[in-house]
Amino acid sequence: MGNAKLWGLKKSPWVFHLAAAPCNNCDIEILDILTPRWDVERFGIVLVGSPRHADALLVTGVINRKSLPRVLRVYEQTPKPCLVIGVGSCACHPHIFEPSYNVVGPYDKYIPVDVYIPGCPPKPEAIILGVVKALKRL
Ligand code: SF4
Repeated sequence: MGNAKLWGLKKSPWVFHLAAAPCNNCDIEILDILTPRWDVERFGIVLVGSPRHADALLVTGVINRKSLPRVLRVYEQTPKPCLVIGVGSCACHPHIFEPSYNVVGPYDKYIPVDVYIPGCPPKPEAIILGVVKALKRL
C-alpha cells in the first residue's frame, strides 16, 4: 500500500497552497502555473482545497507569531508522507524580514522542508522545476 501511494504521489501530486504571511505575489505566481499558459494539470499536478487531500504543501511568506499555529495545524492535517516546498525568498532562509520582532521562522525549525524555490516572486517555470525536484527526492 505504501508503494502504491508513493507511485500515485509521483504521478499526480495533489498540492495545497498554504499562504503563511506573504505579500501575495508568490501566491499569484502559483495561480499562474494553473493557467492555460503553464497548465501544470497536464503533468498531473492538481491544486486541492484541503490539506487532508494533499500530497504536498506549497508554502509562501514568512512564519510569524500569528501564522505559526496555522502552519503547524495544516502540516498536521496533511497525510504523510507529504512534501513541503517553500516558494519565494520569504520562505527561504535567511530572508529580508528575518530581523523583524514578529518573525519566528525559518520553516525548517518547525516542519521538514524538501525544496526551497528562491525568487521574489519566483517565475512559474521555477515553481514547476521546484515541484519536479521535490518529487525526485521521493
Ligand atoms: S518572496 Fe517576495 S513576492 Fe514572495 S511573498 Fe515574499 S516579498 Fe512577496
